[in-house]
Amino acid sequence: MARQNSRRCLDFARHDKEAIKISRMKVHLKQIPAQGLHLEGEEDCPIEELESEGIRCAGRLHYNLDLGVAGGALWANGSLSQPVELRCVSCLEKFGHKVRVPAFAVHMDLHGPETVDLTPSIREEILLNLPAHPHCDRDGHRICKAKEVKIAEQETKRRSDWSALDKLKIENR
Ligand SMILES: [Zn+2]
Repeated sequence: MARQNSRRCLDFARHDKEAIKISRMKVHLKQIPAQGLHLEGEEDCPIEELESEGIRCAGRLHYNLDLGVAGGALWANGSLSQPVELRCVSCLEKFGHKVRVPAFAVHMDLHGPETVDLTPSIREEILLNLPAHPHCDRDGHRICKAKEVKIAEQETKRRSDWSALDKLKIENR
């Protein structure tokens, strides 16, 4: 089931002209020079869409990484960002959000294979940085409708408090 969801995500990316050229985040160790390698680009959305939780890929993963091999291990560090569509827990509306991983870092021991797939590490990091209780106003770009209703209720209550006070003043006169 989950596999099918991820397939849909890849198909979605395939509409993009560039998508055909790009394989997953597989690194060929022979291509990494001694001084390291800088990689920047875009990749298919690495997370499976979790429709039951209202999480949908809304674009491609952007990565900016430095890679190197040292002491029988591959290290990589840099930043990631992944646009997603989430569902607000307050008003239940969908909204766009960018998952940012400003300090992505992995260190993997090498056991022979000539390619290392960074996708599982990247996927895990994106999932860890998804907001657990997404609110549509978290980026400050919009006002949550659920909160708007709450504010309106408070206003009404405050107004009725004042009118009660006014009434009291009148009665005391
Ligand atoms: Zn909301």
